[in-house]
Amino acid sequence: MSTTDHTDPTPNRAELEAQAASLESGSASDVVAFVGERFGAGASLACSFQKEESVLLHLVAQSGYPVRVFALDTGVLFDETYATWKLFEERFGIKIEPYRGISLEQQAAEHGEALWSTDPTACCGIRKVAPLKAALGELDAWITGVRRDQSPTRANAPKFGWDEANNLWKASPLADWSDKQVWDYIAAHDLPYNPLHDTGYSSIGCTHCTNPGEGREGRWAGADKTECGLHPGETATGGAIT
Ligand code: SF4
Repeated sequence: MSTTDHTDPTPNRAELEAQAASLESGSASDVVAFVGERFGAGASLACSFQKEESVLLHLVAQSGYPVRVFALDTGVLFDETYATWKLFEERFGIKIEPYRGISLEQQAAEHGEALWSTDPTACCGIRKVAPLKAALGELDAWITGVRRDQSPTRANAPKFGWDEANNLWKASPLADWSDKQVWDYIAAHDLPYNPLHDTGYSSIGCTHCTNPGEGREGRWAGADKTECGLHPGETATGGAIT
């Protein structure tokens, strides 16, 4: 249930932009609590089953607000990621809402086999960007695991602000966290996490496009592509929840 008019943010925009400035000095739990209190079930956490979501799911649960959780199921996620999906639902007592594009069979029929190899931008558009648009279209605010040190294209990500590209508010509570802070939090709270992180995958996406590697270097390795197109507002070149 939406708490604000998604099509007309104007009445609350000035007030929320003032809040955004003060949230920059706030903690991750401050940002999550603000979004939960202000938007409730009109907000949803985009879960890409990476270590950042282990932290964010815990912070949302601790907040007590009815923030929703969704995931983009591309159909080609790792088995370990699907297992983490179940583990997160069990540990946090939540339902992670799946959003999907067309079937892999339909994609192959319309665009040829292995579109992730022939045109990964088109594949991400079908399997990630379109389902994300559908998910965000139901929301007033979304929460992401974006951190500024993940890549140069994310270096200016605000903790909270208006997402012009997607026409809703966007929060990145871990924007100023380091990798070490994320792992320390997971250890301190004994949180579940995707086991692929223990086998050399720092950033985890689809099976066809993810190799082991530091930071985001294992994503679309060998291709001139660094983002899925899910976080265009953060990118210097135009154009992830992963
Ligand atoms: S990451 Fe690869 S397989 Fe996944 S949607 Fe993008 S191009 Fe397709």
